[in-house]
Amino acid sequence: MRHLTDTHAHTVASTHAYSTVDEYFRAAADKGLALFSITDHGPEMPDSPHPWHFGNMRVLPRVRYGVAMLRGIEANILPSDRVIDANELLMSFMDFGIASFHEPVFPPTDVKTHTKAAIAAIETGRIQILGHPGNPNYPIDIEEVIRAARDHNVLIEINNSSFVSSRLGSEPFCMDILETVKRLDWKVALSSDSHVHYTVGDVDVSLAKVDAIGFPEEQVVTMTPERLLGFLAEHGKPVVDELAEWLADWQSPSIIEL
Ligand SMILES: [Zn+2]
Ligand SMILES: [Zn+2]
Repeated sequence: MRHLTDTHAHTVASTHAYSTVDEYFRAAADKGLALFSITDHGPEMPDSPHPWHFGNMRVLPRVRYGVAMLRGIEANILPSDRVIDANELLMSFMDFGIASFHEPVFPPTDVKTHTKAAIAAIETGRIQILGHPGNPNYPIDIEEVIRAARDHNVLIEINNSSFVSSRLGSEPFCMDILETVKRLDWKVALSSDSHVHYTVGDVDVSLAKVDAIGFPEEQVVTMTPERLLGFLAEHGKPVVDELAEWLADWQSPSIIEL
């Protein structure tokens, strides 16, 4: 089965990324993806977009070139009582949220602190995916965090760029996380974490890891748009209704043949 969605990509709105929305749409269509997401950094990152970036995403098309796009944010986990830098108001504009640790925002400390902060982010109810939890700079109590994610219906991200270009040394942590998600019978999101459109949808290394450990394919929520939108429906996200017609057309074999 092909992996048809991507839940993590950055645009020029975060200045350490280099592609526009239209470049992403075109690249996703060229690659035969069904759906991708733009998830620029939350306001606490030094080069994040102004909060208005998130509030105005309604001007973006839902579908171009047959491909659907989700409006997301990669929020920062904070070392403070605010927990994440995406409040209820901001999240009301989003189809979903990722929460991740980033060094400029959360100075790495120790397992106990990271675990507590990751679980607090999950418990906000405002995010649907825990981003790149295999970052070796942020060791966590993996089992405790995954149990919390499962209790709150939050996916564990297996971030392809953690294997190929970012967060050096992530691989053994990511494998430990993947094995633990399997053992605890929970679910993952595979993503590219693209910072340029050429890599949108590239999750080949993550998929190979999933295969290698016999991780159940049906617990990869991002495999198909039906599955991903079904998951967002469990979170009551209105985008599911907005894309229902597109999804019905997209599923039809005549469209797939194009
Ligand atoms: Zn990140
Ligand atoms: Zn990212």
